[in-house]
Amino acid sequence: MKSLVWLNDAFAELDKSDLIRRERVVAWRDGMRAIVDGRDAVVFCSNDYLGMARGAPATDENSDEGCDAGIGAGSTGSRLITGTSAAHVALEREVAEWKGSAAAVLFGSGTLANIGAIPALVGRGDAIYADELNHASLIDGCRLSRAEVHTVRHRDSAALANALTKGGAFRRKLVVTESVFSMEGDVAPLEEWVDIAERFGAMTYVDEAHAAGIVGPDGAGLVRARGLESRVSATMTPAGKALGCEGAFVTGTAQLCSWLVNKARTYVFTTAPSPMRVRALWTAVRAVRRAEAARAALKENARRFSSLLNSRDSVGGNEWSAIFPRIVGDSATALGVAAKLLDRGFFVQAIRPPTVPDGTARLRITMSALHREEDIVRLAREIKDVVPPSL
Ligand SMILES: *Cc1c(COP(=O)(O)O)cnc(C)c1O
Repeated sequence: MKSLVWLNDAFAELDKSDLIRRERVVAWRDGMRAIVDGRDAVVFCSNDYLGMARGAPATDENSDEGCDAGIGAGSTGSRLITGTSAAHVALEREVAEWKGSAAAVLFGSGTLANIGAIPALVGRGDAIYADELNHASLIDGCRLSRAEVHTVRHRDSAALANALTKGGAFRRKLVVTESVFSMEGDVAPLEEWVDIAERFGAMTYVDEAHAAGIVGPDGAGLVRARGLESRVSATMTPAGKALGCEGAFVTGTAQLCSWLVNKARTYVFTTAPSPMRVRALWTAVRAVRRAEAARAALKENARRFSSLLNSRDSVGGNEWSAIFPRIVGDSATALGVAAKLLDRGFFVQAIRPPTVPDGTARLRITMSALHREEDIVRLAREIKDVVPPSL
């Protein structure tokens, strides 16, 4: 990928100072013994000061509560010290295959991924071109990078091209967008944005929070659905949404991923996710890849709900998305309508600024494969009933 050739020099520079890092795979045995990259060793670099990471020892008191030893609740250290197990490696391999990328890097959460990965890709003297409705964690990642941030009108390809044309002499450029937008449920014009980015030699970073699991082959997301996996520089997939877990993955070339392993501060300077969580994530990724029936049920529910609404009852909501915003304007109205819905047995959150722009407070309705037809029909009716017809 041409926009990533800077990594060759960046790695050469690191190598000159002997500063390249990589994870060692640790398989714990008894006590502080472990197999480290295939070799027996006694570990003296973990943070497992009390020996609790593989579960508190079973005693007469705690065995009744199921607190058995050996549950792998702790990873004992950061990924580059002792926190990488074979389970971490297997999970990242599985995710890379799913997303159609060469490699993947696991982060503690989507927010940690965004605020770590973006500053690893751009910094002072660089420029970011960001959709104006990007998630708060993307905004924070952009701010933390110290790159010059240009906000681009929502989904506006001409505005993106224009901003890049006007751009000054920047070292590197990064285009940042969501694929399915979290508060709108609408879809980024990804092909166009990737075309434009390539034309200007800019990298692309796509947050797939609300597309992963739902769209694309095996639910791999919108980047893969559009065949862009070898043209987008990095995708970010949080596991707290359709994967029903927690954590997040950034995918890209092998070189890009090892750059993140070296430079993303929220990867390097934090305790690795526990083997317990990693195993749960691995199971979740494999289950979601095969969840065609649930994807079909979700799509059917979204289609059903959408068909029950007036066009003005929803600005988003389409075949790509489980998210239906109903904009009502001010925060008080949104809160009032949400309270009425709860009285009628429906929990729908009122979303207010700064999560959404001023004057666009809304109900954000999200469909699930588990919703029942009668509940969807009744919710659509209640929304028509409680939202003032003038809105
Ligand atoms: C939820 C979300 C995140 C953050 O993910 P967490 O794992 O919850 O930190 C990032 N981006 C978008 C678009 C999201 O919806």
